[in-house]
Amino acid sequence: METITRIPFELDVKTLMARVHVVPGSDDEAAFTALVDQARAIANPRAVYRECFIEAKGVDAVTIEGITFTSRTLRKNLEKPERVFAYVATCGHELDEIPLPAGDMLMEFWRDTIKTVLLFAATQHLNRQIDRRYRLAKTASMSPGSGDADTWPIQEQAALFALLGGRDEVRKQSGVTLTESFLMIPNKTVSGLRFPVDKDFRSCQVCHRVECPSRSAPFDKTLWEMMQHE
Ligand code: SF4
Repeated sequence: METITRIPFELDVKTLMARVHVVPGSDDEAAFTALVDQARAIANPRAVYRECFIEAKGVDAVTIEGITFTSRTLRKNLEKPERVFAYVATCGHELDEIPLPAGDMLMEFWRDTIKTVLLFAATQHLNRQIDRRYRLAKTASMSPGSGDADTWPIQEQAALFALLGGRDEVRKQSGVTLTESFLMIPNKTVSGLRFPVDKDFRSCQVCHRVECPSRSAPFDKTLWEMMQHE
């Protein structure tokens, strides 16, 4: 498993203030700037990944290095590829260690926003490294638990972490804990399988959720129907 640390990131106070609607010159500006300064000093976004080879493909399952994943959408996306890249990328646990006033929801929101920026830096860096190192032209990714509940059930996080060497190893290398309910801590962490594609694919295209603030592509009925058939 490869571990990436010292991922570069930018925490620009003015940009972040606009994002969280802190008005320049307001009482909140000093507190927010102090939080960003603290974050900048301790943040350590990280990522781990591993090149893995596909061993078998069934109707709605795929076996990768002895571990079987069940998802028809994943299986469809892996029609051509012979290998995938299992990954975890995270904002890092450091910001959770900044003591905030108990019950201060606004400061929690600020911290979460900064963590989102760090996670974005980690995923971008990870994707660039995989694409460059393995000379991949176009890639897409799927994550257990994203999209419709049955697209790729969140319980398969356990298998994904096993593919990466197990929960303890992932925790040791990245600081990310997978809980018994398959959530990842820190909260701003993503995991999944990345793979080469001919055409762009995003889980949002086959997700029925309406009014999702994180939607990155419109629902594509034709694609969704295609994913349902054998
Ligand atoms: S629409 Fe929202 S819930 Fe559905 S896959 Fe996209 S980000 Fe996830």
